[in-house]
Amino acid sequence: MPTIGVVNAPTVTPPTPSPLPAQGLRPIRELPDELVSQIAAGEVVERPASVLRELLDNALDAGATQITVRLLAGGVRLIAVEDNGSGIPHAELALALRRHATSKITNLHDLETVATMGFRGEALAAIASVSETALLSRPAGQSSAFLLDARTGELRPVARNPGTTVEVKELFYSTPARRKFLKSNATELAHCIEAVRRQALARPDVAFEIWHEGKLQEQWRATLVPGQEGHDALARRLADVLRQDWVASSLALQHPEGPLSITGRVGLPDTARPRGDQQFVYVNGRFVRDKVISHAVRSAYEDVLHGQRQPNYALYIDIDPAQVDVNVHPTKIEVRFRNSGAVHQAVRHAVEQALAAPRAGQASSAAAPSASAAPASPAGSVATIGPIVPIAPARQARMPLEERAGHRVQDLQRLWEPAKVAPLPPQTAAHIAPPASTAATLAPNASSPDLNGPVWPLGRALAQLHGIYILAQNDAGLVLVDMHAAHERIVYERLKAQAEHAGPLASQNLLIPTTFAATPAELATAEDHASTLTQLGLEITAFSAKTLAVRSVPAALAQGDAVALARSVLAELASHEASTVLERARNPILASMACHGAVRANRALTLEEMNALLRQMERTERADQCNHGRPTWQQLSLQELDALFLRGR
Ligand code: ADP
Ligand code: MG
Repeated sequence: MPTIGVVNAPTVTPPTPSPLPAQGLRPIRELPDELVSQIAAGEVVERPASVLRELLDNALDAGATQITVRLLAGGVRLIAVEDNGSGIPHAELALALRRHATSKITNLHDLETVATMGFRGEALAAIASVSETALLSRPAGQSSAFLLDARTGELRPVARNPGTTVEVKELFYSTPARRKFLKSNATELAHCIEAVRRQALARPDVAFEIWHEGKLQEQWRATLVPGQEGHDALARRLADVLRQDWVASSLALQHPEGPLSITGRVGLPDTARPRGDQQFVYVNGRFVRDKVISHAVRSAYEDVLHGQRQPNYALYIDIDPAQVDVNVHPTKIEVRFRNSGAVHQAVRHAVEQALAAPRAGQASSAAAPSASAAPASPAGSVATIGPIVPIAPARQARMPLEERAGHRVQDLQRLWEPAKVAPLPPQTAAHIAPPASTAATLAPNASSPDLNGPVWPLGRALAQLHGIYILAQNDAGLVLVDMHAAHERIVYERLKAQAEHAGPLASQNLLIPTTFAATPAELATAEDHASTLTQLGLEITAFSAKTLAVRSVPAALAQGDAVALARSVLAELASHEASTVLERARNPILASMACHGAVRANRALTLEEMNALLRQMERTERADQCNHGRPTWQQLSLQELDALFLRGR
């Protein structure tokens, strides 16, 4: 045992006898090529779908516009990819199978700005080392096609139109240990189809066919016809691959500004799923899984998603290739951005904007197609796709604060009983009179609906159901509104807007402070967080050793239950460091405050109040979801109602 005392003495433990043969005694040797490729295959080729992805990449890099995939036994027995691309000259066929042989880059600069899918020159070599591979190709200028058997090296002429077919048979035949890790044929087939879907979503200009055991599984026609708008093509490809309802329940997104262009579609919050299997992200046309991007999207949905559900989206990000490193992962599914902060911000912003616009009014305006094409970008074909459908020009999406504050008092205070509160401070009172335009559309309509007036997306209120739902009639049929959920969102958005733009929330003194018996923890929190409470429009001070008094509350919540509000805010604050709470948890705190201020169930509303609430929803961002991500309203169309009564059958 080494003793302590001599500071620098190496503490050598005697080697324990190993049961393994002494490795060090073998001489160092270079590994044979075949073995090196098999090792590389370990990284690149996990299952049939990974082979397929590499072959599709190659076909797309070769400029193919028609790609046919044929599979046997889920791809384990055969993966054949047939393309009409540029082909491989017969003299280069053998080279294509060599490790580190590529036609796509020649120097470091090429690597740093690479715009092709492949560039490492190892896929074919790796695949050939773990399967029986054959290459069959004919460039346009060559009179006949040649077939190269990778195992025997035999090269012979065959008949074929210009293009390339790569056949991969008996995957992992030489490495049975890996073959054992494969799942059932059905599972492997599903992964293969998913691999084609991912590529197809990025390339609407290319036609794809997938055959399994001689049966056609999927067929997607090229949708990008010369002279036609790119966004239509992408919307149609999305509809073909992900089904029409995926597109119908998603919102177009477009962010062409700056060095980063983002287009695509994001799913409505209601369509979020337990698993994130409908999330497609492309960077310069390459399907990637990227934590920066998925986090950015997730945070944009934060306010409108229920629980742990995963949103659906297809996002196409075009960025200067020099700003992104695609050579950080053997299968290139991960990338690294030079400036990931900027990417995060841009993605989050673009998604937030798409989600924020209230949807109630969009049905009619969404039909207008975008006149502007996407800006040119270095990303090849993806750049020509451009925006799909423009974000509907939502009137309310970017409303100045004054305007939002404007209808607050007029509409919302009517939602509660007359209150025992002090008159509004003068600076708040100034906002009472809404801007002329808002007043003109709000006031007369709420009381006496003008049938020739504007068409309200959420319609005119008819009645209240069990004190919970508002029933309204609009052009399409019947609208059902969860009044608490809807109002909660309206109050929340108002609080957020105030907090973001106007500093401390406007507060109102209670005429008579409300006192309540407080726990020692509540008393301590009220004292520690006094300045935060002020920021939140609350004044909660000690009234006695065991009692707290609520002296003022946010003006927007003046009619709510002050004690419940105070207790919930104190509980939220208790779990945070006093000095940073507003940076870290402001929105969740505002959300729970809004919950206390929102109109409660079983509160009878007049028609006027109901209409005011509907009009508020139409102009509030994210009004389609409550603060917990549940929907606030549903449309039942006349057709759906007819179906209920078997009319017209
Ligand atoms: P990489 O794609 O990284 O260059 P691969 O091993 O996948 O490496 O392919 C090697 C080379 O073979 C490619 O660079 C390309 O020149 C050629 N090649 C492979 N597949 C095709 C194809 N379908 N059509 C035309 N050329 C191909
Ligand atoms: Mg390749």
